[in-house]
Amino acid sequence: MEVQLPAYRDHGEQEPEDRGRADWRQRIASWMFWQARDKHQEGRPYEEWDGSWKRIGASGLPGELTWDEFVAARSGIRRRENIANTRPLELITVSGGSLFLPRAYAALLDCWEQVEEGLVARARICKGCAAQGPRWGGWRTQRPLGYATLCPPCSGAAFQRGRDRPIVDGSSGAAARRAGARPATSGMNDVTETQRRILLDK
Ligand SMILES: [Zn+2]
Repeated sequence: MEVQLPAYRDHGEQEPEDRGRADWRQRIASWMFWQARDKHQEGRPYEEWDGSWKRIGASGLPGELTWDEFVAARSGIRRRENIANTRPLELITVSGGSLFLPRAYAALLDCWEQVEEGLVARARICKGCAAQGPRWGGWRTQRPLGYATLCPPCSGAAFQRGRDRPIVDGSSGAAARRAGARPATSGMNDVTETQRRILLDK
């Protein structure tokens, strides 16, 4: 089946939620954009650099990059270029300015996206109150039985109960005890109390 590459997007333009999202088309495209930019910049003086490498060219690849150049340039680092422990570059064929992948392989990559995103979605849910945390590890803490996700209020509450506490090294643990859990929790209670009064006043 034909593979439609997503358009170029600068890292800075992406929503934080979208960065690093499991997206095999985006990943393959990003390898090509890197290579197309390399070719563009190596071939001309700095003053002539422009954004033409961001556009998909007649070859079906970005800029002036051709498939053979792309494969040759990436062959040395092919080990890293895997998705779901497979090597998509070895399975892509190019014909008439279009990229093709075996349908079953594309289905496998679609499945990988779903599994990856499912894992990320589960890992960001607070185990205490089911609130959704930031995408990348903000609420993850190391605990006796592995990693767990706890939002700051639940983490503070667990800390106060004096059990199920996170394992932290001595110095940062002491700092966390001085500065962290207790004030954060009482702060939350203050907010709740204030909100309750406002509601009662109305
Ligand atoms: Zn929570």
